[in-house]
Amino acid sequence: MLKIRNRCSKCLLPETYPNISYDEDGVCNYCLSYIPIEYEGETKLEQMLDTYQNRNKGAKYDCVVAVSGGRDSTFTLYELVEVYNMRVLAYNYNNGFVSEQAKLNLKEITDAFGVDLVTIKHDQTKYFRNNLIALSKKFSPAMVPTLCLGCRYGIVSGACKVAMRYKVPLVFFSSSRLENTSFKNEFFKIRHNKRVVGMASEFISNPFYFKPSFVPMYIRDYFHDDSHLHPLSPWLKLLYGKVKLVEFFDYVLWDEKRIENTIEKDLGWKKPKDVKSSWRFDCLVDSFKDYFYLNSVGFTERDDLLSNMIREGMISRGDALQNLTNDYENQREIRENNIRRVLEEFKIDMPI
Ligand SMILES: [Zn+2]
Repeated sequence: MLKIRNRCSKCLLPETYPNISYDEDGVCNYCLSYIPIEYEGETKLEQMLDTYQNRNKGAKYDCVVAVSGGRDSTFTLYELVEVYNMRVLAYNYNNGFVSEQAKLNLKEITDAFGVDLVTIKHDQTKYFRNNLIALSKKFSPAMVPTLCLGCRYGIVSGACKVAMRYKVPLVFFSSSRLENTSFKNEFFKIRHNKRVVGMASEFISNPFYFKPSFVPMYIRDYFHDDSHLHPLSPWLKLLYGKVKLVEFFDYVLWDEKRIENTIEKDLGWKKPKDVKSSWRFDCLVDSFKDYFYLNSVGFTERDDLLSNMIREGMISRGDALQNLTNDYENQREIRENNIRRVLEEFKIDMPI
């Protein structure tokens, strides 16, 4: 694991974060330009839910909720079923790397709520295998997200297809804006100011990524890039016109403690044994991403999340730093075991 010497004096972003600079007080440029999250609010959520409940009276379900078996989507499911009395169809996307605990949770929570579950399987292992080998041959932190090739498209298009098949006009996802990871784009902009140019130059410099048969999936992923919220939504409207895609945590405050208390105490939801953080254990590919990021730049998506939580006043810097150090140490063995298991299962030869 790469040792970090300096971090922002306000958040936790380290000196290895792409395009970071610190002012004379040691505060980073990302803190200085941070815009606090504004939530739509629960009143607006209720209004929207009423509208869709009325509109969909003749059908079996009011909405689809994308669930992974992880923490946040379990909470969303709980809220929509128990608090807002929505008739929910649960949808799970299986990319071939779902952890055993996530599968167990999924079964338990859908049983507990008495909701129907539809699983869409989309095997991404061929992309993962190829890009993992490419990454290990010539490493660049900017290319770590290629391990997830197919997921953006798979998750969003799967949800929309389920919604259309069951005539449900509303789909909920459970990403929070706190999880925005600006470093992924910034890595591409280190040498080139434009993300697309940086991306192109990464691909050109490492021909192992390039497989003509992968091109359609890169394009699909690009156009399904969290697009229900931001820049590319016209494309999705064109494809899945009548389906409205909503992030639950655009309306309701994402509060880690409240989420954990609700689902662990009330629902018996479990994270894997020995893992202190309940965030992101549902996909085994995350272990690879963390492994590569920690060894090359010494931080992961968790540093970003905690930094956003500090800026939002949800946690002190001291507590966040303590959590971070504990998490990384605590998860090292689990991370390496997950990696070994996947490498063995897919017969990939890579030293870790
Ligand atoms: Zn900062």
